[in-house]
Amino acid sequence: MNPWITGKTKLTGLLGYPVSHSLSPAMHNAAFAYLQLEYAYLAFEANEGNLDDIVKAMRALQARGFNVTMPNKKNILPLLDEVTPEARMIGAVNTVLHENGRLIGYNTDGRGYVHSLEEKGIAVAGKKILLAGAGGAGRAVAVQLAVDGAAQIVILNRTRGKAEAICDVIQKSIPACRVQPFGLDETTLKQQVKEADIFINATALGMHPHEDKSVIASPDMLPGNLIVSDLIYTPAKTKLLRIAEQAGCRTINGQGMIIWQGAESFKIWTGVDMPVDYIKGLMFPE
Ligand code: NAP
Repeated sequence: MNPWITGKTKLTGLLGYPVSHSLSPAMHNAAFAYLQLEYAYLAFEANEGNLDDIVKAMRALQARGFNVTMPNKKNILPLLDEVTPEARMIGAVNTVLHENGRLIGYNTDGRGYVHSLEEKGIAVAGKKILLAGAGGAGRAVAVQLAVDGAAQIVILNRTRGKAEAICDVIQKSIPACRVQPFGLDETTLKQQVKEADIFINATALGMHPHEDKSVIASPDMLPGNLIVSDLIYTPAKTKLLRIAEQAGCRTINGQGMIIWQGAESFKIWTGVDMPVDYIKGLMFPE
């Protein structure tokens, strides 16, 4: 018997498609159970065709909140009553709180990422950051780095226009952070990486089916005092992180980000800290 499933149990969940592979139900339900909080988390298939109906259903069921994933992170915006300034800058929501009949949209991806650095003693304020990748995750990370006081963010992306779009948004809202967009090419990477304190990979290179690829081709491109962070969490050690280790760099994978973005959502819904060490042990046993 689950003593925390009662007549007062509140619904949370995930709206996306596909959702059957998601780690979020296991993560949140394990945390609710551990703390004996009266919440449950379920995954719901939601896409462009039925998102509106499902959001209305979440209101009607008095769900406490929900996560939103692909393909709904942008499409959810017009269905909400309020959106935080960070989520508005990112242009995407991954967490919704249902409070007093209002749906409030947050984006915890960037905050989760910065938290994953902070837990390792790395502050981003005042740092020069080189970011490869300007998709959804890259955009969330870039905005949060700027919000948290990064001095400079150089963004490289295969499709340069997406890097430019993020830089425009940051420049308008946080002018104290210097931003510069480039295409993703080896010459620019080689130049820019010498100047950076932290290098972040937010491209899909290194993740299935690109496990044999890395944005950095060889260890001699990397100064040994650089912190190298890859948002990818499967595999835990990407080709980039292996190359960075050979160069003597400190490396950080994406496991902290996935946990902390969930922990931020958990806190928004419950007001309680997620038992992060316990959840890490379950999701990524050593
Ligand atoms: P996305 O929106 O699809 O963006 C993909 C990014 O990868 C874009 O910058 C894209 O460049 C780039 N890219 C894809 N194929 C490439 C190639 N062959 N060469 C160069 N660049 C390429 O995906 P996303 O959600 O931002 O995810 C990006 C990465 O972050 C993924 O590896 C994902 O696993 C990771 N991630 C981790 C977490 C976490 O919690 N740890 C959360 C979200 C994402 P273009 O813009 O030119 O297409």
